Amino acid sequence: MSTTYTPKKSYEIIDHAYDVVVVGAGGSGLRATLGAAEAGLKTACVTKVFPTRSHTVAAQGGISASLGNMGEDDWRWHMYDTVKGSDWLGDQDSIEYLCKNAPAAVYELEHWGVPFSRTEEGKIYQRAFGGMTKNYGEGPVQRTCAAADRTGHAILHTLYGQAVRQQAQFFIEYFALDLLMEDGECKGILAWNLADGAIHRFRAKMTILATGGYGRAYFSATSAHTCTGDGNAMVLRAGLPLQDMEFVQFHPTGIYGAGCLITEGARGEGGYLTNSEGERFMERYAPSAKDLASRDVVSRAMTMEIREGRGVGSDGDHIHLNLNHIPAETLAERLPGISETAKIFAGADVTKEPIPVIPTVHYNMGGIPTNYHGEVLTKVDGNADSVVPGLMAIGEAGCVSVHGANRLGSNSLIDLVVFGRAAGLRCKEIVDPSTAVPELRNTSEEKALSRLDRFRYAEGSTGTAELRLQMQKVMQNDAAVFRTGETLKEGQGKIREVYRGTEDISVTDRTMVWNTDLVETLEYDNLIAQAIVTIDSAANREESRGAHAREDFPERDDENWMKHTIAWFEDGESDIDYRPVHTWTLSNEISYIEPKKRVY
Ligand SMILES: Cc1cc2nc3c(=O)[nH]c(=O)nc-3n(C[C@H](O)[C@H](O)[C@H](O)COP(=O)(O)OP(=O)(O)OC[C@H]3O[C@@H](n4cnc5c(N)ncnc54)[C@H](O)[C@@H]3O)c2cc1C
Repeated sequence: MSTTYTPKKSYEIIDHAYDVVVVGAGGSGLRATLGAAEAGLKTACVTKVFPTRSHTVAAQGGISASLGNMGEDDWRWHMYDTVKGSDWLGDQDSIEYLCKNAPAAVYELEHWGVPFSRTEEGKIYQRAFGGMTKNYGEGPVQRTCAAADRTGHAILHTLYGQAVRQQAQFFIEYFALDLLMEDGECKGILAWNLADGAIHRFRAKMTILATGGYGRAYFSATSAHTCTGDGNAMVLRAGLPLQDMEFVQFHPTGIYGAGCLITEGARGEGGYLTNSEGERFMERYAPSAKDLASRDVVSRAMTMEIREGRGVGSDGDHIHLNLNHIPAETLAERLPGISETAKIFAGADVTKEPIPVIPTVHYNMGGIPTNYHGEVLTKVDGNADSVVPGLMAIGEAGCVSVHGANRLGSNSLIDLVVFGRAAGLRCKEIVDPSTAVPELRNTSEEKALSRLDRFRYAEGSTGTAELRLQMQKVMQNDAAVFRTGETLKEGQGKIREVYRGTEDISVTDRTMVWNTDLVETLEYDNLIAQAIVTIDSAANREESRGAHAREDFPERDDENWMKHTIAWFEDGESDIDYRPVHTWTLSNEISYIEPKKRVY
């Protein structure tokens, strides 16, 4: 890929040295930033958008924790639900850590000022969410703590305030380009200040990637346009693998056409789905949990209804979500945000008519493999749990893996704060603030700047937006809710065609100040690498598990496939290997939860 490459310009580089550099200011990045700063470490947070504009701000439904405010609950039941939700691909040591630490993490947020909705007695309000049960699957439990339907907004603003209070330093609207790697260790990052065009080098004893998911590899996604998985792509360019990328979550209720999310909390408050015959079809697919079965199950049921000719609308290509039987006061109090969203994006008055919905890409279970301290892992000499020194990953960018093959609703926000906190604690343990930050040879920085220049001076004839659209269409069609060997194979071919098209990419703006043309091109380049890894990982996995539903291999196959995919990427090709699922727990308070068939 050298046709459009122009040799490197020389850039003046502004140097910084920190104990800890966090890339990303969403819920996970802010929690880690404040933890590291609180531990007395000199901490910087680098973010391409203003902190409170990170995608976490859009989270609606809530954050899970077994507080038991609305009936009895137990963290072990939460663990069981999460293991089952993950279709037994989640690492049980990490899941135990998540569920056991969840209540304290939510109280911490409460004490920092998150304005949770309240019960009559003044306790944190909790609602029902898909797959959340009591007593190991017996019946629904209200476990999802909510601030109306703006929970992410409330959490993000509170965490930002707290991080500023801890004197963490923010570098806002700085675009991180690449990791600075030396001899297999991470030594910091290279970033571009969008406001004045300067290049900054952050040397650090620990770099924490908290860059979020890559939903924008797909055509229809609930995630923000900034969700381009930049951290994941940096990891691939550093010669490290990504894990379980074939597991992409489709949320059952994206608004038809616009893709905006209608929270699962809407069904948690009593909403239900109907087909063109007005039938509550979920009763057939999940007789016990019905509309509150887990997301993969509901998305597949909706797709089946549409395929079998029972979709609604003139093209019979979507489904109705009904809320109009819920009292208008309850909708105004508990679901004000989505009532507004439905009005704006579907013209639907939720008190009177159903909302047109369709399964829409929502979350990436896959990401950068880590242990439960947030430390990044790779495979060295057959050991797939080898820690990469100097590098951590948390939040949606990470794959710790608590969500396995399918994430339960409200389990991401809790993952952000529990593992954001864990990363801060690990930094406190292993980063010594009294030593100098090591110097760097400049080879990996040259590599990053060459990539920047390759795109900055690209003189091809295909616009970035055109290539991005081609990629998004391939992913939407060929790595969809249902997959077959045939469509995946076709997709593998087509996505490589798009990748080759990158040689002819055109960038017209050559400046460095707020060059959105170049930013979008770098983001597209990040996305296409993840798209290839996703589709290749999906083609390899010959079974159905969680969000990965193969029509040609409809059953889960624990004997051959209870293992994580790990995939490297170089020059347009992926290299796939596997690592074992952790089947142990951390304490004797719960033992390994044996696999069984997953029914709701
Ligand atoms: C519409 C919607 C609703 C949701 N609702 C819920 C819910 O109710 N409950 C729940 O548990 N989960 C929910 N989720 C999922 C959850 O919100 C996300 O998984 C989570 O917020 C991701 O947080 P994060 O910290 O990983 O990253 P994000 O919040 O996505 O933030 C990423 C950060 O990385 C920075 N960044 C990225 N690339 C670069 C770069 N190159 N250089 C510098 N900075 C960079 C960005 O500036 C940003 O600050 C929802 C998701 C969506 C899309």
